[in-house]
Amino acid sequence: MVGSAVVRRLGSEPVETILTATRAELDLRRQSDVESWLSENKPDVVVLAAAKVGGILANDRFPADFLYDNLAIQNSIIKASADRGVRKLLFLGSSCIYPRLAQQPISEDALLTGPLEPTNQWYAVAKIAGIMLCDALRKQHGLDFISAMPTNLYGPGDNYDAEASHVIPALIRKTIIARDGGADTITVWGTGNPRREFLHADDLADALVFLLRNFSEAGPINVGSGTDISIAELAQMIADTVGFGGKLVFDTSKPDGTPRKLMDGSRLARLGWKANISLRDGLARTIDDLPAGFGRGA
Ligand code: GDP
Repeated sequence: MVGSAVVRRLGSEPVETILTATRAELDLRRQSDVESWLSENKPDVVVLAAAKVGGILANDRFPADFLYDNLAIQNSIIKASADRGVRKLLFLGSSCIYPRLAQQPISEDALLTGPLEPTNQWYAVAKIAGIMLCDALRKQHGLDFISAMPTNLYGPGDNYDAEASHVIPALIRKTIIARDGGADTITVWGTGNPRREFLHADDLADALVFLLRNFSEAGPINVGSGTDISIAELAQMIADTVGFGGKLVFDTSKPDGTPRKLMDGSRLARLGWKANISLRDGLARTIDDLPAGFGRGA
């Protein structure tokens, strides 16, 4: 989702060539394959959007995959880029790198000041190691490798798997299936009380291109929309957008995760960037973009 959004965004820039590699073409966990690809293609700038990502349940169920795959992907790309003279590298982390009970809104200074949220600590530890590696290469070799921390993302090309997805694609899918099947209720995981901040992938891509041009410092920089919403409110907004008039039922046997994740975006705002797509518009665009017949037969 993020890689495609960056490619779309770069389409309007005077970029010489945009190089991409699909999962089938290149297994990013394999150091020597990544080294060969970089030696052959010689990129000037690398945007490291690839990662093993998933929602709250996938993170909790496959901790070894989330820790190992992410460490392997980022280690191979960051090290191979450093060794091959890549001029600038942008590493993408996540708001879950911050402590579970960080003061809200969460500033970049909260990194490593408290325990992580247990459901996604494996992913978070890998991402923290990636930020540290970029910072270490800056300190030891003067490389311009930067790290951006997006908040919860959504948009075209998201993963709509019922179990493994994040909350927005999961609720869009459940709500469309309920509407089309004439059901009275949809099930929302947890209590509905947690609060999350959401950013459309096209807003993120715009911020990343901005950062490539305007940011050359160590440490994470937050990328958010600046507002958060409860999961219950989000579920109702999705129901309204999809046109589902039934009820929300909360399954409290499922985890809530972090109580609140709202990032302090003032560091990026001071540089001159802000998000443009409201959640209501972004959801409508995302739903409009779904293929005809989406959710049927599920
Ligand atoms: P998180 O931000 O790492 O917790 O990631 P998620 O996007 O997976 O979940 C955000 C919140 O939405 C959590 O409190 C979930 O319990 C809640 N949620 C409600 N319904 C769903 C659902 O169907 N799928 C997912 N993934 N989360 C849900």
